[in-house]
Amino acid sequence: MIVPLSSPDIGRRERDLINEVLDSNILSIGPKVEQFERMVAGYLGVKEAIAVNSGTSGLHLAVRALGIGEGDEVITSPFSFVSSSNCLIFERARPVFADINQRTLNIDPAEIEAKITRKTRAILPVHVFGRPAEMDRILDIARKYRLAVIEDACEAIGACYGGKMAGSESDAGVFAFYPNKQITTGEGGVIATNSSDLAGLCRSMRNQGRSDMGQWLDHCRLGYNYRMDELSAALGVAQMERIDEILARREAVARLYNARLGQLKGLAVPFAEPGVKISWFVYVIRLASGINRDKVLTYLRANGVDCRPYFQPIHLQPFYREMFGFQEGDYPNTERVASSTLALPFFNKLTERQIDYVVGLLAEAVERAANCS
Ligand SMILES: *Cc1c(COP(=O)(O)O)cnc(C)c1O
Repeated sequence: MIVPLSSPDIGRRERDLINEVLDSNILSIGPKVEQFERMVAGYLGVKEAIAVNSGTSGLHLAVRALGIGEGDEVITSPFSFVSSSNCLIFERARPVFADINQRTLNIDPAEIEAKITRKTRAILPVHVFGRPAEMDRILDIARKYRLAVIEDACEAIGACYGGKMAGSESDAGVFAFYPNKQITTGEGGVIATNSSDLAGLCRSMRNQGRSDMGQWLDHCRLGYNYRMDELSAALGVAQMERIDEILARREAVARLYNARLGQLKGLAVPFAEPGVKISWFVYVIRLASGINRDKVLTYLRANGVDCRPYFQPIHLQPFYREMFGFQEGDYPNTERVASSTLALPFFNKLTERQIDYVVGLLAEAVERAANCS
């Protein structure tokens, strides 16, 4: 049996709306992007949602719109996808990492304050694997030191903490819709904000620095082409129409895994603490120390089950080591977690048969890896 790591869930409605766009002849800057933005803003309960062509573009615009630049420091997590930190380097700001909490895998608020200097301008927490970071504490620290907050919510649409939506409470929350995310637009992202000034800047910068009022060839600031196209937005509209159903389905798949894997020795399954609603992005287990993660991974892959180490620490990526002089041992919690976690196949249409196959192989793999290490 072949089980892929992820797979988008595209139905009849997605095809119909895409055909509608094709028939309209308006392939960019049209009504579907506006509709998608209204749906996302309404869902998150924010004033403005600005659609862009990737999560990375959204993070870049948020950083730029907040005026973060050369000489500034931003405190962020080393346990993330690389773009949550690259977006700072784009603007010549310096990523300053604070280690994670090993239970939540999110930036540890207790580590943040020690990293604040006179150059610190912002905190950029990441809601890793759809589990909300401790935003109440992070926002308190930000208020105390007058720092901006950008949430990398690219893995967390629909995640909640204390009744609040991840990505909705800070200066800007950024979401992503690459095909492996909870909902997809192919490539795409959204910046969510309650600031109309920040929204205006982002709208202008995604569209070559044009203003709303000016002519097509008037450019009032440096801009980019970060626009989302109408086909992507059509896909997004169809997916947003059933986001509750999609997130519920993903939660059901995670529960099935938890029920099957909860008994196995040698690994820990993801958990949700009280007051927190995870939006299931990936399903990541943690292997006990003494079990060789890479051996488990190789065994699963050799038997048709795609799985992946998730994540590699950002500070140990070759160009980060080179640019900033990071070394192994700099962020021990992140490194321990990164060397022992494994993402299993996870998507809406994963069947019970597939789950049973993955779980059976995993049990064998863990036993073998334990015996030979
Ligand atoms: C997916 C993701 C992004 C953005 O990815 P794009 O491929 O640019 O849409 C950013 N940060 C995190 C943590 C992500 O998982």
